[in-house]
Amino acid sequence: MRPLDKQMPPVWEAYPDGQRVPTGVANNHLLDAVGEYCSYCEMRLGGGAILHHKLQREMPESVPKEDWRHLLLICYDCRRHMTEDALTPDRLDDYLWPDAHPSFSLHADSPFRYRLKPVPYVITDEDGSREEHDEEFVFVEVNPEAGAELRRKAANTIELFKLNSPYYDDSRHILEVPRSDHLQVLCNRLQQRTQAWTRAQASVSRVRQMRELPEVRENPDLEQLLHQQITHTAHGKGNWSVWMTVFWQELEEKDVLERIFLEMPEDNPGFHFAGTHFGQLRWEAL
Ligand SMILES: [Zn+2]
Repeated sequence: MRPLDKQMPPVWEAYPDGQRVPTGVANNHLLDAVGEYCSYCEMRLGGGAILHHKLQREMPESVPKEDWRHLLLICYDCRRHMTEDALTPDRLDDYLWPDAHPSFSLHADSPFRYRLKPVPYVITDEDGSREEHDEEFVFVEVNPEAGAELRRKAANTIELFKLNSPYYDDSRHILEVPRSDHLQVLCNRLQQRTQAWTRAQASVSRVRQMRELPEVRENPDLEQLLHQQITHTAHGKGNWSVWMTVFWQELEEKDVLERIFLEMPEDNPGFHFAGTHFGQLRWEAL
């Protein structure tokens, strides 16, 4: 989960106390504040951006101004597979919310990490027959190197949204999907995350190829053109944490990651992954 610095827009701040804001309006404010991605699985939302109130699965038609702190964006998959219909405020602290708590970072103690793993993918039929093959998917995992409290909350968060799909059995490491759900693609998050991983790896490979070109060796600044293109690709694809993970594992070049995934180009302010929380990333300490 990308850590979020969810800045309240001035127009929201100016609402009188107790004012209720229509959900559609709040939705647009959230898109500006944190970008067009599910705040939990990081899938790109496109036209399907939907507001999420942390205390309830279903959105009311409007939200009180005071509830800004409870608002994030959620995709249809995360909402559909949520394991709780409602939470009480005292239970919010049992989870990691990307706008309020430590979330993904590249540090060794990040509560979440992303890994590509082979897994048996089993399509089940009502008559009990099973069709099995092996696939590779990118899973979001609790990082064993994080502190105990963070590990507990990270596990709760993965479970609350079933971030590795409702068909994944962690204890047996197997995906079992009823055929009708498989055909309807009722959960697309593992696939999207894995696609981002593949594209990130291809992008790293292009950076390496480019560095071999004599023209680029003579003029290393040319590589920045490719960096800008990768920013566009990652922005259009989503799953920022996956891109960060792959680029860090493969290149471990802080300045390159910063340029591609963290910088806001001055000539195009809407282009960056809006609302990324630099403090939570502890970027300076990396
Ligand atoms: Zn989602």
